Amino acid sequence: MIGDLSYPATLAITAVSCGVCMVQAACRESRSEGQAPDSTTGVWDSAPPAGGSSATLSSKVPAAVAASAGREAGLRELVLASLVWPASVAVPVLLSPAAAYARLFPARLRDERGGVVVGGVALRPPLGLALGIGAVVVGQLATIGYHWARRQRLLGEPRPVQAKGAREYAFSEGLSSHVANPEGLLMLGGYLSGTWLLGKMPASYYSFEGGIDWGRVLCCLLLQDLIQYAAHVGEHSISSWVYRKSHKPHHRFTNPRLFDAFNGSMTDTALMILLPLYSTAWLVPSCNVWEYMSFGSLYSTWLTLIHSEYSHPWDAAFRRIGFGTAADHHVHHALFCFNYGHLFLYWDRLLGTYRDPKDVRKFNNDV
Ligand SMILES: [Zn+2]
Ligand SMILES: [Zn+2]
Repeated sequence: MIGDLSYPATLAITAVSCGVCMVQAACRESRSEGQAPDSTTGVWDSAPPAGGSSATLSSKVPAAVAASAGREAGLRELVLASLVWPASVAVPVLLSPAAAYARLFPARLRDERGGVVVGGVALRPPLGLALGIGAVVVGQLATIGYHWARRQRLLGEPRPVQAKGAREYAFSEGLSSHVANPEGLLMLGGYLSGTWLLGKMPASYYSFEGGIDWGRVLCCLLLQDLIQYAAHVGEHSISSWVYRKSHKPHHRFTNPRLFDAFNGSMTDTALMILLPLYSTAWLVPSCNVWEYMSFGSLYSTWLTLIHSEYSHPWDAAFRRIGFGTAADHHVHHALFCFNYGHLFLYWDRLLGTYRDPKDVRKFNNDV
């Protein structure tokens, strides 16, 4: 019953929050039109107004050509970079039509009574679990490939979030730490496998029928982020002992890189990722396997991307509708007491804990 109510209620709250975010963004832009560079550093808090120079006609012509080429390159970068999002949902989107999964997987593999008994414990059939982990792996591979391409300057010159620049490190070292840290992907894999095989998920999660309702996927992402927000605030504020034992290890990164996303402590992962995941499943108990898969893969991709040391080509559009960006999460890593939300800006804006990256002087002004 709670889940039946939480689905439309969450979407309604989000629609209102999204409207608030767009109004705030519009207000901020109109205010910035009258801004001047800082008198001591000459640095703009936001991009200087377009067309405000006193350039002559002859200097404006090549400038216009350069601007056009720049826009073209920017568009190409945006399109190529954004492939990371469809890649993250490729497995559920391609396999969720009945004609696709019925042809590939015989009914006995999908039948929830077709599990096995191991050591006296009845286990659910693992097909949905294997496909779900596969979807997350595809999303992670796309994310890592995108990050590699950016470091190789194959998608233009990446813009570091922080003015002091991105951290220097070998890609292979970053990748191995991302894959191997036990509190990250290994712990998540254990949670996903345990809850699935032992039948601890709501019954509908084992169903292959019904396709993908993207509203339900969005609802899961919103609830996950809201519960994670609450857990995050709790870890920071309950006591210094709780903070030290749980979240402090993740905060040793004041200038994080993409591969730090899951690097913290096991307690931190349990409180801030696993607890919200389990709660969300029971608050939205009507998801099927494809919706669960889409939610999980998008969540893992997004959480990784907001730790990137570089801003992303979609960030301006994301911030306008209240979606979290790398710069927004860098604010939290730099200042600690703002931007507790990860995927969305709504909770911080509603509860007064939001700080715009443009107001942080140590960040580059166009992130
Ligand atoms: Zn973080
Ligand atoms: Zn924190």
